[in-house]
Order: sequence, then structure tokens, then C-alpha cells
Amino acid sequence: MNAAALPAGGPTGRAIAAVAPGADSGGRVAAAWRALALVEDPEIPALTLVDLGIVRFVTLRPDDVLEVGLSPTYTGCPATEFIRGLVAQALADAQVGAIAITQVLSPAWSSDWITPEGRRKLAAYGIVPPSDDRSSHPIGCPRCNSIDTERISQFGSTPCKSLHRCRQCLEPFECFKCI
Ligand SMILES: [Zn+2]
Repeated sequence: MNAAALPAGGPTGRAIAAVAPGADSGGRVAAAWRALALVEDPEIPALTLVDLGIVRFVTLRPDDVLEVGLSPTYTGCPATEFIRGLVAQALADAQVGAIAITQVLSPAWSSDWITPEGRRKLAAYGIVPPSDDRSSHPIGCPRCNSIDTERISQFGSTPCKSLHRCRQCLEPFECFKCI
């Protein structure tokens, strides 16, 4: 990623901080977004962290540290710490220089933040995307589109999803919870 513009530093990227502030700022921010767009969510590999909408901002601070704001999806989601590690690794690999990861708790992440592309990927993966209308509308089977479905469990393979079954095709499927 734009490595030619960076000084020949060690693998730690320490020397990158020597770049004049502002000189490469756009490149670093864009490179960080590109790197984050490739990081898969550990619980739903069909989605990247950017698809999920949990990367709230990437900004270059006056002290030349690239600050990344991350929101946890569900409070207490055990993947949160793991995701921080994935982000740190991806940014190190992208050689964007010194970074800081800030947890953004407010405004709280909501399933509304999942991008349209993310919703499309969820559906293609066989997981019903979150919907605001869930309480009043039946959940359609992602395989046969039948609305003759039932909820088997409030929790699917992860706490973020509930488990359902279609009475038509008899296949179980998961539903991304709306919060
Ligand atoms: Zn079905």
C-alpha cells in the first residue's frame, strides 16, 4: 500500500512517524480503510468489519498517530478484544505507521450500521439481515422464502444471532438480531 512513499524504515514502521505531518495523511487514512475493509468479522466471516459498520472513524491526529475508532457490536461480545487484535495486525501489515485504537461506545453501534453491501452478503451467506420490522413481519426463510418459520432458539452459533427453522423446507437458518 503506497509503500514507495514511505521512508525505508524497519519492519516496526517506527521510521514512518518521521513523515512530515500532513504530507502523507490522506494516503495513510485511505490505506487504513483499505486494510480494514479486508478484515473479516470473526463471528460472521461473510462480513468485513467495514461491512458491519463497527469502524467508526479513521483519523490522523496532530501527533501523527492514526487513530481508529471501533465500536463493539453487542455489549460483552467476546469477539471485541479479538477484533482489536485483528485491526492492529491488519494496520501493522498495511504499514500505516503508529496507530491507536479507541473504543467508541457512544453512540452505540446498532444493526442499522450494517452497510447495504453487508446486508447483501449476509443474505447470500444464508443469514437473514436485521430488520426494523421484525416484530410485525414474519421472518422469511433465506432458502425458499417461505414465511412459515419458527424461532428455535434465541441464540444461534453466536449471541448476535437467533436460530430459526423453516416449516416448508425444514432447514434451520440464522437471523442477525436487530439492536
Ligand atoms: Zn425454507
